[in-house]
Amino acid sequence: MTCDDKPKRIGLIAHDACKRDMTEWVRFNARKLVRHKLYCTGTTGKLIEGVLTAECEGGPVDLTIFKSGPLGGDQQMGALIASDQLDILIFFTDPMTMQPHDVDIKALIRISTIANIVVACTRSTADYIITSSMFDREYEPEKKTYESYTDRKVRLSGRR
Ligand code: PGA
Repeated sequence: MTCDDKPKRIGLIAHDACKRDMTEWVRFNARKLVRHKLYCTGTTGKLIEGVLTAECEGGPVDLTIFKSGPLGGDQQMGALIASDQLDILIFFTDPMTMQPHDVDIKALIRISTIANIVVACTRSTADYIITSSMFDREYEPEKKTYESYTDRKVRLSGRR
């Protein structure tokens, strides 16, 4: 199956210091990316929308823009992942700046790990992903059920 038969659902987020990297990466990969369903946090999304509109000369772009990351956008992205609606997360993180929504960032990486989706926090990993032969065909990640957790016995009585 080609990606045209089943578009991948791709999340794109960049911290402020990484937004130039992200827009360059999106510009370079525009033709590939516009064949898929894209989700972005607010500010990143507006920049990407500008890049893709220019690169694709007004052609259709399936892009959903959430709230800005620190205002809940990371959590909206996390909700997509938790409900099995995202395949790939490209998240360029700034390792040198404290982020006000640090807990949301950690939660996003954590839920990505739980869901075993494809994640890139660096541009070079993003390059590997988008040039992988698996990018152009259907890929079903192994899903853990976490049964030992969900089926655990929870005691409600007894001493605290
Ligand atoms: P932004 O959010 O795209 O709205 O800048 C990014 C982030 O999560 O820090």
